[in-house]
Amino acid sequence: MRKKQHIYRIIGIISLFLFVLITILPLTTFAALRPWEGVDWGQVSGWSRGSSSLNNKINNLDSDKVVDLPIPILFGVTPDNLYSSFGDPRSGGRTHEGLDIMAPRGAPVVSPTDAVVIRIGVGDTAGNYVYTANPGGETFAYMHLNEIADITEGDELSKGELIGYVGNTGNAAGGATHLHFEVRDNDVATDPFPRLTRIFPLADKIKYLKNILDNADNKTKLAENMVIMYRKELVSAQTLNIELPDSIIKALANKILISITRTLRIGSTGDDVKLLQTTLGISADGNFGPKTKAAVIAFQTSKGLTPDGVFGSMSYAALASVNGTLPAGCTPSTAFSTTTGIKCTAIL
Ligand SMILES: [Zn+2]
Repeated sequence: MRKKQHIYRIIGIISLFLFVLITILPLTTFAALRPWEGVDWGQVSGWSRGSSSLNNKINNLDSDKVVDLPIPILFGVTPDNLYSSFGDPRSGGRTHEGLDIMAPRGAPVVSPTDAVVIRIGVGDTAGNYVYTANPGGETFAYMHLNEIADITEGDELSKGELIGYVGNTGNAAGGATHLHFEVRDNDVATDPFPRLTRIFPLADKIKYLKNILDNADNKTKLAENMVIMYRKELVSAQTLNIELPDSIIKALANKILISITRTLRIGSTGDDVKLLQTTLGISADGNFGPKTKAAVIAFQTSKGLTPDGVFGSMSYAALASVNGTLPAGCTPSTAFSTTTGIKCTAIL
């Protein structure tokens, strides 16, 4: 009787050991081999291999990879703004397998090549993410998105089609908004930095933007956001006689929409900071930091003002008078319009 119980116990221990060996061990080994931003890459390959219609679409892509890629953020980022972060150490002993492109929340992310959407999801680390199959057997990944475009797995995307909008979801929460862009060749991550050598031509950008606006839930709001963030590029398109979408033209004409009505200084955040940054020709992230201060000092110096780096009434008046966009009945020194009685705000 005792002997029998003993044997059962041994069998139980052996079974438990086998259970651990079969289930848990491969999982940990798998995680160690693929320390990729919390996303199960094997699942992606498995899924794509499992669907012949998806494979057909992927096979329709060009067999040569696109070596020189346009930056996948539609406006406001040039190759000069990029720095390589591939291979940098990350928490948990991981290394960084992509490129972080800093951009304001809501910046449209578009596909730099024709592509097929192979996976969309939400990960603890990656946040909202999209993977695409790209020419030459490559796979691109877009992470920390604020919002994913209205796309589904299996969709064929043309170059310039919307992937989503920049954000800081996943483990980027609370940190600077940015796009984590990753390029994989046969599951092996490669550095995108040396390949992001160009931007889309301005006429193409506007064409892609028109398509994005046409498919947007709230076209007016999106157009307004684009004008707040990218007024300079949109105005230069207008100057070059590139036909702008109607909603953009309306938003550009809506001067009340965007204004600076308070003193801006280090630590200020918001749309008015974005507007100031756009006007000064620097990257518009809405956070008044050292770079914005330096740009304000340069502007003040050029106008003969005290270069204190604080954007107050004198700086605003100088900027507003340069642009000649004060409301009717207002001068830089009047608080209320002499014709309408409405508060004179800086309208830039
Ligand atoms: Zn990253």
